[in-house]
Amino acid sequence: MAMATTDEKPEVPPEYGHLAYINNGSFARTLGDNLPRSCSGPKTISQLAWSSTPSSIGGLEVLPLDLIQEVLAQLDITTLLDFRRVNKQALALVESLPHYRAITTHAPSALHAIFRIQTGRSIAVQTLFDELCAWKCHHCDGFGGYLYLITCIRLCRPCFTTKNRYLPRDTTRVKAEFLLDDEITNRLPRMRLHPGKYAPGCQSITRTGPRSVLYDAGHARWTSSIIHGSKIISDILEEAYVTDQTEMQLLRYTKRVRAAEQAGRVSSLRTPRLTMLEDTNANNGFRYVAIIRVPWFDRKSQVAQWGLSCRKCLSIPVSERTYLDQFTPEGFKEHLKEHEAADS
Ligand SMILES: [Zn+2]
Ligand SMILES: [Zn+2]
Repeated sequence: MAMATTDEKPEVPPEYGHLAYINNGSFARTLGDNLPRSCSGPKTISQLAWSSTPSSIGGLEVLPLDLIQEVLAQLDITTLLDFRRVNKQALALVESLPHYRAITTHAPSALHAIFRIQTGRSIAVQTLFDELCAWKCHHCDGFGGYLYLITCIRLCRPCFTTKNRYLPRDTTRVKAEFLLDDEITNRLPRMRLHPGKYAPGCQSITRTGPRSVLYDAGHARWTSSIIHGSKIISDILEEAYVTDQTEMQLLRYTKRVRAAEQAGRVSSLRTPRLTMLEDTNANNGFRYVAIIRVPWFDRKSQVAQWGLSCRKCLSIPVSERTYLDQFTPEGFKEHLKEHEAADS
């Protein structure tokens, strides 16, 4: 099967031609916009060379096809792509997998991006497929036109640009902010930074030292609240992004508490008063380093659809617009009714 080198060209359904448009998202400068143009996805059959490998899939051959496909869908993405390279039979099996076909046809950039940031070992093929088939943002009821690829969940732009749990943290920050040690930090879902220009402001983000690995803040917060169980942790870490000063206060505090524990004393230290800073910068480049834009694959119609944006909303001030910036065709119909009600 020949791979599409770019994702499909989106089209507005004819009935909404003058009312809706498809925001191609290139202004946002996500990970997807930073992938090399020449990136052409997994190699095709003619590009793969198997010289001495026997063309057999061993014990798998005795299983019925649907069972093999069920097993393949449970593999992580890296393992599936590795299996695909074993021999021609393995390749044929992978390419007959409906999940793989849907992903490579409608969201090939997802595979490129996952390969670049090395999250393929922690994302199951089934998970990526399920997210491709679900249009709703993980966080709100809006159309989620993007995937956050550390944990592979679908998000809308308002959510990934404002929720701090989707702002990946570097090693230093994740340890200090969530009070985690090396051992725990090493077990968190993480990604490798792909250097590039991110966010609408095109900030250059380079791979240097501790910035080369970034961690999922949602898991860090959850782990931290289990380990420390204290109110300060669960409260302050819900959505906040600590300032450098607070980070130092927290570090000093935990070091002293641990030292007291090790010495067999009960710490009488008071928890520091924390100055929290909500990172309200929607244009922080790090918000975009794990994000790609994807369509929604409607399994019923077998058609991939891109979110529709509203032309009418462009003429009203940003502060008065709906929180949502993209809709399914159904959702768009409902949204137009809101305009009608407001106009009458
Ligand atoms: Zn959302
Ligand atoms: Zn509108």
